[in-house]
Amino acid sequence: MNVPYRIPVAKPLLDEREADAARRVILSGWVTQGPEVAAFEREFAAFVGAPYACAVSNCTTALHLALKAIGVGLDDEVITVSHSFIATANAVRYCGAIPVFVDIEADGYNIDPALVEAAITRRTKAILCVHQLGMPCDLARVVEIGRRHGIPVVEDAACASGSEILWDGRWEKIGAPHGDIACFSFHPRKVVTTGDGGMLTTRNPDHDARFRLWRQHGMSVPDTVRHGSAQVIYEAYPELGYNYRMTDVQAAIGRVQLQRLPEIVAARREIARGYALRLQGIAGVLVPHEPDWARSNWQSYCIRLVGADQRKVMQALLDRGISTRRGIMNAHLEGAYLNRDCSVPGSSLERSEAAQCNSIILPLSVQMSDAELDYVAETLGDVLGRRAAA
Ligand SMILES: *Cc1c(COP(=O)(O)O)cnc(C)c1O
Repeated sequence: MNVPYRIPVAKPLLDEREADAARRVILSGWVTQGPEVAAFEREFAAFVGAPYACAVSNCTTALHLALKAIGVGLDDEVITVSHSFIATANAVRYCGAIPVFVDIEADGYNIDPALVEAAITRRTKAILCVHQLGMPCDLARVVEIGRRHGIPVVEDAACASGSEILWDGRWEKIGAPHGDIACFSFHPRKVVTTGDGGMLTTRNPDHDARFRLWRQHGMSVPDTVRHGSAQVIYEAYPELGYNYRMTDVQAAIGRVQLQRLPEIVAARREIARGYALRLQGIAGVLVPHEPDWARSNWQSYCIRLVGADQRKVMQALLDRGISTRRGIMNAHLEGAYLNRDCSVPGSSLERSEAAQCNSIILPLSVQMSDAELDYVAETLGDVLGRRAAA
């Protein structure tokens, strides 16, 4: 069997509803941060159960503002993982601070809470944990360590819109938030998209007020207020800010995507179950583990290969019409980090490095059919020379 087309590794779910939303905003005459952004923020806050949500241009800028809000500055240290998209570590450096990398857990791709405490120094200003590939990290333990040491926790929830965690006996959405601030991405590679876009959620009104100031050049009176005012108003710029705005066109698309999110997550969870069933019999393939206190949105489905060459397997799959990606990168192995010391003395990042070399991300989109799932699983078995047990 072969497919006459290529199965993409990911595909956003967008149609006439998003197109209509964008059209409505374009014809309204107000296209940048305005009423649609405000509505998207309200709806997102309600969805994740957060008191405050602030929309920004992407998750990288969200992470920058989150770290800045909790006071991360020059030569401070932020404990995080190297095993993440490079934006996680880069945001720490935008603050002039040093990312301090700890290794991931043995059976997943998230920070190992057991290694966090040994990385704490007098200069530690924050713990930046990642819900990698949509799988919640062990927040209960990370937050407990942070509380005990008086260190704020920022959640890189870029991939985790719609993921859930069991918290004090109740299922809650990632972003409530359980740490101090959570940051989301709406890049097309995530489960819902606005083209590019980001969101910060918090329970702290002071943080939220700062995000709103900083995303708009530190401007004291936003243009939306001046536009609607019967009085002449002069704005002031009391402190350094940025242009990290989301546009109303993006927000209108995001509002439609948010309505679809529950069905998208349900469909992705069904496909992940389908993969687990189909792959479990293939020797040399380890399927991802979901702890019983986590419900992933399965932003990506990342398997481990045991005793097979990652690149050869990926090429053989591509030759047969299946796009894959290698596992998550490690920032510390990239040129931008090579000459910097981001390590914890006496520790290694061997699990992070192994995961980059032996894991691959399989195609997962809501549009995938059962026949395509069968095809991916069968082809993977063929390529590995190991048939699934019937
Ligand atoms: C995608 C991603 C980011 C960056 O998100 P952008 O919206 O593209 O800036 C940050 N962290 C993680 C873990 C990501 O996967």
